[in-house]
Amino acid sequence: MFDHLQRRLYRLSPWLIRALIPVGYKGTYKLFRLGQTEPIYVGRSDTCLRNRLLRHAQTNRADYFDYDVHWTLENCFIAECSAYHTLLGKTDNLIHPAQPHGLNLKCPFCRSTFDQIRQNRFSYS
Ligand SMILES: [Zn+2]
Repeated sequence: MFDHLQRRLYRLSPWLIRALIPVGYKGTYKLFRLGQTEPIYVGRSDTCLRNRLLRHAQTNRADYFDYDVHWTLENCFIAECSAYHTLLGKTDNLIHPAQPHGLNLKCPFCRSTFDQIRQNRFSYS
């Protein structure tokens, strides 16, 4: 089961976003529509989660959100990739999460990364 089913969802309204999330925090988020238990979109902000969610609130794209604050760009990227792959095909996300600017990180959940890791293993035969 997904962890968001046990978590509280917050109404996607500007005053609540401002009350919950300080300026300048990195983080990931999921957007939900009223009456739906699966998120319609997953995303992240490497600079200001609050501003990103405020922009979503202006579009009326979703009714509720859930979020996590992350302290490093790497954790933020991996958390978004995890959600993206877990919910692949079930959300409005059309493209794979982009790497954080200036960092050479690979998504650990992509098949190509898995194959590359497997090929780098020592052979005992
Ligand atoms: Zn991936």
